[in-house]
Amino acid sequence: MNYTNITVAGSGVLGSQIAYQTAFYGFQVTVYDINDEALDKAKDRISKLKARYQEDMGATQQEVDAAYERMSFNSDLRAAVSSADLVIEAIPEIVPIKTDFYKKLGEVAPAHTIFASNSSTLLPSQFAEATGRPAQFLALHFANEIWKNNTAEIMKHPGTDEKVFEDVIAFARAIGMVALPLHKEQPGYILNSLLVPLLDAAELLLVKEIADPETIDKTWMVGTGAPKGPFAILDVVGLTTAYNIVLAKAKATGNPNLEKVAELLKTDYIDKGKLGVATGEGFYKY
Ligand code: NAD
Repeated sequence: MNYTNITVAGSGVLGSQIAYQTAFYGFQVTVYDINDEALDKAKDRISKLKARYQEDMGATQQEVDAAYERMSFNSDLRAAVSSADLVIEAIPEIVPIKTDFYKKLGEVAPAHTIFASNSSTLLPSQFAEATGRPAQFLALHFANEIWKNNTAEIMKHPGTDEKVFEDVIAFARAIGMVALPLHKEQPGYILNSLLVPLLDAAELLLVKEIADPETIDKTWMVGTGAPKGPFAILDVVGLTTAYNIVLAKAKATGNPNLEKVAELLKTDYIDKGKLGVATGEGFYKY
């Protein structure tokens, strides 16, 4: 891996974090977004990250300022990627927006540039054709609060070149990530493939009135040595997100128990402002 210049496309919640983390680890970073207004918001968001790196990572003022100095901002796609070795895409999770972006990117990026998508739910094979360079494309998926929750799931699609896969794994390690390679496409990557069934099972035990949340969590924690049980994890994820996921699944499957879970989350928690850790109360008080 001999990457020097990284462009991050999309400078929202995750894009800002990916860009700053990459600059913090010494890479030159260009941040691209659709217009200067979006980039101004990103500058503000990234400036606020400096304090988090000082608090959470013990970074010095000099280090956090030096990281920011390695960043530049550009709303012209051709200019933003003109010297990029790697473009990391973190634009909205909407298929036509991503497809259109990859078509344009494929036309203006240098031939050697690798493209990586941070998409949480869409598979790289959905966009491989649009990039015009499927062998140089794959998924590189980060978690929110990247500097603390430092997982990077690197996922190939069937056409990804092996050397590209290895290089992106090395890049992820070079920016302080625990690199987690996936050799085949998997919706939800590894983490959500494990976590979602656990959370679903816990919610079903609750609505079937088998046991209360504390007992279910205690069973998991004592039985496996895990630091948190499924309901404590749901509080961290946020009950609005949990509700949206379970509602979609209830509609898709027609499972009445999943409908009950959605109803419970809405009436007993969301409607009462109990959204989880973020609001100080969910299944537990914080
Ligand atoms: P966000 O809405 O916070 O940010 C999206 C950014 O993309 C905005 O700044 C927007 O102006 C910009 N944008 C819109 N259209 C664009 C275009 N055509 N070209 C360039 N920029 C464009 O979204 P987010 O939460 O940062 O999510 C971005 C991606 O990261 C999604 O694919 C999402 O699945 C993934 N992701 C999000 C999280 C999370 O916790 N938020 C975690 C992991 C992965």
